[in-house]
Amino acid sequence: MKLDVSDALAHPGQEISFSGSQAIADQEISGMIVRIDDCTVEGSFLSDEEGNISVRGKLRTIAHAPCANCLEDAIAEIENEFDEVFQRGGDPEDDEIFAYEGHEVSLDKLVMSYAVMALPIRFLCREDCPGFEYRDPDVAPAEPGIQYPFAGLQQLLENNEEV
Ligand SMILES: [Zn+2]
Repeated sequence: MKLDVSDALAHPGQEISFSGSQAIADQEISGMIVRIDDCTVEGSFLSDEEGNISVRGKLRTIAHAPCANCLEDAIAEIENEFDEVFQRGGDPEDDEIFAYEGHEVSLDKLVMSYAVMALPIRFLCREDCPGFEYRDPDVAPAEPGIQYPFAGLQQLLENNEEV
């Protein structure tokens, strides 16, 4: 989403509120695809005497990813607050800073990085998801005869490596 900062530049120090929504591309995090709904963003911005624009506000959305334990669909509510300064005349492509040119501030990079920052390390379908039993070290197989589903395949691979 973009902010038209013409009025803010004409009246430094005057706070202007905004709200909107922004789409966010799917993210790949530790080999897992995280899908993020459109972000609701609201906040305010103002210009200083040099034309640098302070933007602060809050974003909310829902993120979707497989449960870390059982791989069923899991969701997480995402919320984050931001407070950043966009430097006037800086390079908007520069990854180290927030910057803008002309009379338009793009919030795309800011909203994406603050949304991704707020993602949980592990998604769980529910707090006490037991996951797959054979993955749980506390649930030892009752009989020695019980095999893991891919144990046979693993054995084959190991045998091949020895040849
Ligand atoms: Zn689960």
